[in-house]
Amino acid sequence: MGKLLNGWLCYAAFIWSGVVSANSLVLVSIDGFRWDYLDRPEASIMRSLAARGTRVTKLRTVYPSKTFPAHLSLATGLRPATHGIVDNYFCRNDRPDCYNMGSGRKDPDWLSGVPLWTLVEMQGGRASTFFWPESDAEFAGILPTDYRHFDARTPHAERVEQALEWLTLPADQRPALVTLYFSAVDSAGHNFGPDAPETHTAIADVDAWIGRLWQGIERINEREGADINLVLVSDHGMARVEPQHFIDTNTLPRPRGFKRVSASTRVMYYQRDQDADIEALAEKLNQLSEGRYWRVSSESLAHRHYEGHPAVAELIIETQPPRVFRRGGGKGADLHGMHGYPASEEDMAAFFVAIGPGFHSSRVIAEAHQLDVYPVAAALLNLTLPDNLPSDGGALRAALKANKP
Ligand SMILES: [Zn+2]
Repeated sequence: MGKLLNGWLCYAAFIWSGVVSANSLVLVSIDGFRWDYLDRPEASIMRSLAARGTRVTKLRTVYPSKTFPAHLSLATGLRPATHGIVDNYFCRNDRPDCYNMGSGRKDPDWLSGVPLWTLVEMQGGRASTFFWPESDAEFAGILPTDYRHFDARTPHAERVEQALEWLTLPADQRPALVTLYFSAVDSAGHNFGPDAPETHTAIADVDAWIGRLWQGIERINEREGADINLVLVSDHGMARVEPQHFIDTNTLPRPRGFKRVSASTRVMYYQRDQDADIEALAEKLNQLSEGRYWRVSSESLAHRHYEGHPAVAELIIETQPPRVFRRGGGKGADLHGMHGYPASEEDMAAFFVAIGPGFHSSRVIAEAHQLDVYPVAAALLNLTLPDNLPSDGGALRAALKANKP
C-alpha cells in the first residue's frame, strides 16, 4: 500500500493541485442509528430531509458490524480485511501488540487505504473533520486541515456550530468535506435497548441538531451561492439482547498458545504458538456450546470477505441475538442492545439520507451497501478514485444527479 500511496501522492500533486470542486459535502455519522429509526416519530426532521432528498431504506453493513470497522469502510470504500481495522479491538499474527479503538493515531501502520478526507487533501481540497473514527490519524503522512481528537463529552452544539463556521469560510477556503459524528443514539441503544424511551430521546436530540445543521447549510447555499450537500449515515443498527441469555466468557477455554479476544458477538482465538492445537480447542468449544454459539466456518468468512489479513484470527466463534459474550455473563443487566452480528441479521442494517444540490429529491433506493458510499461521495466531489475499490457505487449511484463514473 505504501508504494501505491506514494504513486498517488505524485499523481495528485501533478494533476490535481489547486482544483476546487463546486460541490461540498457534510458527512454525518449517527452511530448505531438502525435503518428503521428514521420512521419513528422522534426522527421527524431527518425524515423530512429524506423526503426532499434521497433515502436508502436499508444500508447493508460490512462484517463485522462494529463501529471502527464500519466507519473505516465508509471512509475508505474498503472492506475491514483490506483497510485493516477488523474489529474495535483485535490483534495480529505479525505483531505482538493489539489494536484498540483509535490506535491509528499513535501508529498509522494499523491503517490501510485512502479515506475520503485524505483523498480530498491529495487532490487540492480542504477537509475538516469534527470526529470520525481514525480521522485524527495520518494516512500516507497526511492529516485533514482541521480535525479534533475524540471526546464523547463535546456538546452537540459545539460540533454543529464549528461545522457551520468552517462552511462559512470564503469559497476558496471552504472545505470540500466536513465530517461530524454523534454517538448518543448508539450509547442509549446499548444501555437501554433499541425500543427504550431513552433511545427515543437520543434520536430526538440528534434529530434537532441535524435540523439546525441543515438550516445553516441552506442559508450558506442561498447567501453564498454554495453547493453544500448533506449525507447522514450510520455504521450499523442495533439488536435487542437479553442478559439472562448472555454467555460468560469466563466459562470458555483459554488454552496456552492462544491469545483470546472477546468481541461481544464473537470470540477470536489467535494462534500464538505454532504447536497449539486448533482442532482440540474447536472440539472443546463445541462440547461446551449447547447450541449457544458455533465456530465460523472458513466458507462463511470467505462469504463475508473476512480473510487474507494477519488480523483475522485462526479460530472465531460467534453467537446471535439475544445473546452476547460477556465476562461474568448477564451480571448487572445493564446491557440491552448489541451489534457486530453479520449483515444477514436485519437489525444490523444502517441508514443513509442525502440532500442537497448534487442529489436527487424524493428518491428512495431500497437497498445499498456501505462500500457504495465512498465512490458516490468521491463522484459528488469530482475526485479521482483510487484503484481496486470493491464497489463502483452500486445502487447508490442513483442518488447522484450527475451520475459520473
Ligand atoms: Zn457504532
